[in-house]
Amino acid sequence: MEDYVQGGLLPATLPSSFRPMPPSSPDDVIPDHCADAAAEPAVDVRDLVKEFSTTAGTLVAVNGVSMQVYPGEVYGLLGANGAGKTTTLRMMLGLQRPTSGTVRIAGFDVAVQPIEVKRRVSLVSSSSGLYQWLTPREIMLYLADLYGVPDEEAAARAEMLADLFDLRGFMDRRCAGMSTGQQQRVNLARSLMHDPPVVLMDEPTRGLDIVGSRRIFEYTAHLRQQGKAVIFCTHRLDEAQRLCCRFGLMFRGQLKLEGTLADLQQRTGREHLTDMFLDLMPAESSMAARLTVLQGRGDP
Ligand code: ATP
Repeated sequence: MEDYVQGGLLPATLPSSFRPMPPSSPDDVIPDHCADAAAEPAVDVRDLVKEFSTTAGTLVAVNGVSMQVYPGEVYGLLGANGAGKTTTLRMMLGLQRPTSGTVRIAGFDVAVQPIEVKRRVSLVSSSSGLYQWLTPREIMLYLADLYGVPDEEAAARAEMLADLFDLRGFMDRRCAGMSTGQQQRVNLARSLMHDPPVVLMDEPTRGLDIVGSRRIFEYTAHLRQQGKAVIFCTHRLDEAQRLCCRFGLMFRGQLKLEGTLADLQQRTGREHLTDMFLDLMPAESSMAARLTVLQGRGDP
């Protein structure tokens, strides 16, 4: 993977607790268990099911998922397109009602105390939009206000996040006209204004260049050091292998494999997540298998 740590890309005014990730090397995998094992889970999902009614019948998007994520842990929720990751995150956020099962965030049940849950969780997503006619500062302060963050604290936090995500050059310019990377950085900063203990990241590096991606990795490592529980969804398995303490591999709505990298290596006999992942795919989904079927049918 690219060497994205050296070179002083982070601003000088970072919080004192911020420590950039060390340079990448073959042995440079996050420790097997970086969470506080004695702590209560910050995210506690039990037997989660989500069914959708479609014209073709009932689609089971999430099928009995249970998982726990602890403070100080980055959990990689991985899966192919349509595996059910986003639906799972939406249920954790209280944006979608589960068909059955429970989600507790920082001890609060999403179905019973949705407001308490929303105070304690944030979503960082590449697909979230920004109010184009507002400036990053206005958006950040507006969101802080919605979350009830005191004005002084919000102003200080906006400054800190502006430094962290290099927003200084455009903090007071309208978002319309900003590049994808700039908008993504504002998106990330605004989602952290209320300093939640649980951060859900859905493809946070999509559309970002190498510097933007590096910033996300460094900040994710910083969140972990601060004791946050982070769920990181990505298709980039190299990113995941580097960043995450534990992994859950989803396939067709089910969590098929879960554990630290060492656990998974031992259980599957595979070294890399990519190979474990491909092993989960049914043979009929490979291109070679499809070609064989087409040829067997006499198609060109
Ligand atoms: P991707 O990596 O492509 O974002 P994902 O793992 O996040 O995929 P989901 O978006 O959770 O997958 O979708 C899981 C399944 O549920 C898919 O088959 C999707 O088409 C279906 N689905 C999601 N939302 C709805 C909905 N509102 N109505 C019907 N089907 C839905």
